[in-house]
Amino acid sequence: MVEIVERGVETFAFQAEINQLLSLIINTFYSNKEIFLRELISNASDALDKIRFESLTDKTKLQSQPELCIRIIPDKVNKTLTIIDTGAGMTKSDLVNNLGTIARSGTKEFMEALQAGADVSMIGQFGVGFYSAYLVAEKVVVVTKHNDDEQYVWESQAGGCFTVTRDVNGGLMGRGTKVILYLKEDQLDFLEERKLKELVKKHSEFISYPIYLWVEKTVEKEISDDEEEAGESKNKEEEGDVEEVHEDKEGKPKKKRKVKEVIHEWALLNKQKPIWLRKPEEVSKEEYCSFYKSLTNDWEDPLAWKHFAVEGQLEFKSILFVPKRAPFDLFDARKKANNIRLYVRRVFIMDNCEELMPEYLGFVKGVVDSDDLPLNISREMLQQNKILKVIRKHLVKKCLEMFNEIAENKEEYTKFYEAFSKNLKLGIHEDSQNRAKLADLLRYYSTKSGDEMTSFKDYVTRMKEGQKYIYYITGESRKAVENSPFLERLKKKGYEVLFMVEPIDEYAVAQLKEYDGEKLVSVTKEGLQLEDESEEEKKEKEEKKKSFEKLCKVMKEVLGDTVEKVVVSDRVVDSPCVLVTGEYGWTANMERIMKAQALRDNSMGAYMSSKKTMEINPNNGIVEELRKRVEVDENDKSVKDLVLLLYETALLSSGFSLDDPNRFAGRIHRMLKLGLSIDEDDPEAVEDVEMAPSEENKAEESQMEEVD
Ligand code: ADP
Repeated sequence: MVEIVERGVETFAFQAEINQLLSLIINTFYSNKEIFLRELISNASDALDKIRFESLTDKTKLQSQPELCIRIIPDKVNKTLTIIDTGAGMTKSDLVNNLGTIARSGTKEFMEALQAGADVSMIGQFGVGFYSAYLVAEKVVVVTKHNDDEQYVWESQAGGCFTVTRDVNGGLMGRGTKVILYLKEDQLDFLEERKLKELVKKHSEFISYPIYLWVEKTVEKEISDDEEEAGESKNKEEEGDVEEVHEDKEGKPKKKRKVKEVIHEWALLNKQKPIWLRKPEEVSKEEYCSFYKSLTNDWEDPLAWKHFAVEGQLEFKSILFVPKRAPFDLFDARKKANNIRLYVRRVFIMDNCEELMPEYLGFVKGVVDSDDLPLNISREMLQQNKILKVIRKHLVKKCLEMFNEIAENKEEYTKFYEAFSKNLKLGIHEDSQNRAKLADLLRYYSTKSGDEMTSFKDYVTRMKEGQKYIYYITGESRKAVENSPFLERLKKKGYEVLFMVEPIDEYAVAQLKEYDGEKLVSVTKEGLQLEDESEEEKKEKEEKKKSFEKLCKVMKEVLGDTVEKVVVSDRVVDSPCVLVTGEYGWTANMERIMKAQALRDNSMGAYMSSKKTMEINPNNGIVEELRKRVEVDENDKSVKDLVLLLYETALLSSGFSLDDPNRFAGRIHRMLKLGLSIDEDDPEAVEDVEMAPSEENKAEESQMEEVD
C-alpha cells in the first residue's frame, strides 16, 4: 500500500454542498450501492479518453505509460477494492478542485432529487459520481500521477475534510489514477470475483478500453520428475498428486505427476468491439439499452434509438438515442454540449463538439464514428470542417425520422412530447430548413381536441368549408384561453382554434407563419376577418357599424392614447368588447412574457407593445345602451366611467395585465355601491380601498366623482 509521509500533509475542508452530499450518501440507506463501480470505471474511461486524445497530436504524452487500460484488484486480506487506470491522471490542483473544493452545478440538484425520492444511481448524470465510492467504502485513497506534475495521494474518510500529500513512492505508476476503497464491513461482497464480473458485465460492458480483473485460479499442471528436480514448480502450492506412467520418445516409461496450483492472473472482462460497428439486426434490445446507459449514465432505458450507417462519398456510423426524460439542466446555458461522442475510426475524439448537432436537439444522445475526418483534428479545424456539416445534416434528418417513428405510438409520443416539445419549438424558431418537418411533430389542445392534443395535419382535415386559415390563440394557460371572448364568433362558426399556451409558442409561431400552405392566424390580433356571409348579412352589418360610429368616436376620446382606435368587432358574440393587438406587434401573452424577463431591453417594449385596438360588440346589451346614451348626449358623463371600466375589464379578459389595479378596484367598488344603493358619502357603509390617485389621474378622478 502507499506510504504517506507525515510531513507535507495538507488538509482541506470539503466545500459545504459536497460535504452535505457526502453525509447524505453515507447516512441514508440506498439499496443500489453497486453503482459505485460503474461510476469509478466511467471516470477511468474518461481519463483514458483524455490522454488518448492528447496523444493524437503529441505522441510523447503516452511515453510515461503506453498501455491504456483499467484494472480492478480485490484484496480480501486488506479488505480493499482498487481500481487503476492509465488515463490522464490529475495534477495536485486538479485533485484539490475536482475531488472536494469546487462543487459541480449538479451537486445541489442531485441532493434535491435524492430527497425527493430519486434513486442514488442517478448520481452520474449530475456529475458527482466519484462520491458514490462512499456508498461502500469508509475510507477512500486516490493516488494519481499526471504528466505535468508529481504523484499525489488524496485521502478521506469523509467527515468534513480530506488530505493531499506528495507521494514518496512517486513514479511507480508512470501515469494514471488508482482509487483504493477500504470497504465497510458489510460490503465485503464486492471483493467476490463472481460479483465483480457480473457488475462489469451489467454496467460497463461497452467501455472501449480493456477492463482486467485480478483473479485467482486453480490450475492442474503436469510435471515430470525431471522438471521437479530442476526446481520448476518451486514456491507453488501443490495438492492431490496423481502418479501416471508415460512413455518417453525412446519408448522408455517415464514418471509424470499432475499437480494443482493456485495462480493469479488478469482476466479480461469486456469485449471492446464497438456496438455501432455491428449490424443492427445482430444487436439485441438489451444491448442497446445497456450501451445507452453506459454512454449517458442514465438509469432508465432510452425511449427510442436509431442505428444507421451512411455510405457513399462520406462514411460514418452512428447510434442516436432519445432519453425518456429531459435532464435537469436541459436549457442551462452554462452546460457544455456533450450529447454526441465523436469517434474517428474507432478512436474517441471528443464529446463536446457543438458543430455536430443544433442546440435544439441537445437532448439526443449518441455516438458518431467517422471514417473521413483526420485523426489529429483540432477543435478549430472542426469548426470549419465541411465533413462535419454534412454529418450534422444527416444526424438532424435521422433525428426527425426517429421522432416520427415515436409518433406512431401515441402513448410513447405523449411522453416524448411532454419532455421535449420545447426543443421542437425551439427548432421551429432556429432551423428554417426543417421547419415544415418539425411543424408536423407539434401538438396542441384546441377548441375541439378534447383531452388529446391535435396535430396541424389533423386540424387541416377538420377545417370547415370556406375556412381560410388555421386559427390559434396564445395565452398563459389552457384555462385562461379556453373561455376567452376572442373565441366566441369562431366557436359559433364551428372553426377550430389551437391553444398555444407555452411562452415559446409565441416565438415559434412567429416563425412558422403557415402549415402546408394554410396561413396561421392569431385570433387576438387585428385584421381577423371571418367571411362567408351572404350579401344581405354584410349589408346589415355595415349599417350596424355605421350606427356605432359615434360611440366609437366618443370611446376613443375617453380612452385617449391608451388605444390606437375603437372599431366594431367581427369576432365577439357575447362579451361587450376585446382589445386586439397589431398584426405584427406583440400579443397580450407576449407582452406578459416580455415583462417577466428581467434583463430585457425596455425600448423594444415601447415599440412592440403599444398598439391596441378596442373592438366593441354591437350586439351586446351594455354596448347598445352606451350607444343610446351617446346618441342622446355626446357628453353624457356616465358614459366616461363606464367606458373606462369596460376598457379595464377588456384588458383582463384579453390577457393583458392592469397597470394600476387599485384604480380598477376603486371603480368596481363604486359600481358595487351603486348596485347596493349605498350613499357614497357614508364612510361607515363600505370602506373605499381606492388609493390616492396619482397626479396625472387626478383630473380624471374628479370627473368621475362628478359622475357618481
Ligand atoms: P464527473 O466524472 O461526472 O465529472 P466525478 O465526481 O465522478 O464527476 O469526478 C469529478 C472529476 O474528478 C472528474 O471530472 C475528473 O476531472 C476527476 N476525476 C475523477 N476520477 C478520475 C480519474 N480516474 N482520473 C482522472 N480524473 C478523474
